[in-house]
Amino acid sequence: MSLHTPAHWQKQNKKRTRPKTKFEKRAARLDYYFNRWVRLSSMDDLGMVVCWSCGNQRPWNKMSAGHFIGKSKTTYRTRWDPKNVHPQCIPCNSFDEGNKYQYGVTINNFYGDGTTEALKIKSTKPFNPDIFDIEGKIKFYREECKKLEPQKEGNNVKGIDNNTQ
Ligand SMILES: [Zn+2]
Repeated sequence: MSLHTPAHWQKQNKKRTRPKTKFEKRAARLDYYFNRWVRLSSMDDLGMVVCWSCGNQRPWNKMSAGHFIGKSKTTYRTRWDPKNVHPQCIPCNSFDEGNKYQYGVTINNFYGDGTTEALKIKSTKPFNPDIFDIEGKIKFYREECKKLEPQKEGNNVKGIDNNTQ
């Protein structure tokens, strides 16, 4: 930093971090297993899954789990709702405002008209964090993932899964 750098610039460069609460840490753990399950449970025999926004196919471990109602502290009630989260390719998930409309159309076609409206209403309802409920869900989705993970050695669908979305 130069001596001439304005003080408020220096302040902006400092990352403000707050330690995560126990609930937030467990919620992040559940995100990992739930999002993995979303992709694993949608794959075909070759390990491919279809993007719910654009219809492109990719290997399960090259896909994201896309939230129709986005993840935030105010939307915990839809964060782990299987109707709200489906495989999305990384471009659709990363620039998802462009493909949100099509995502909603696919959800309504699959579950019935009004599903996206119902999800929107659900997401605004109050949510009381319950750590035991979260622990139970972590256990459940971890087990489900184990059952679904491709097992064959050398199988091209097996790969390092770096995608936590
Ligand atoms: Zn896509």
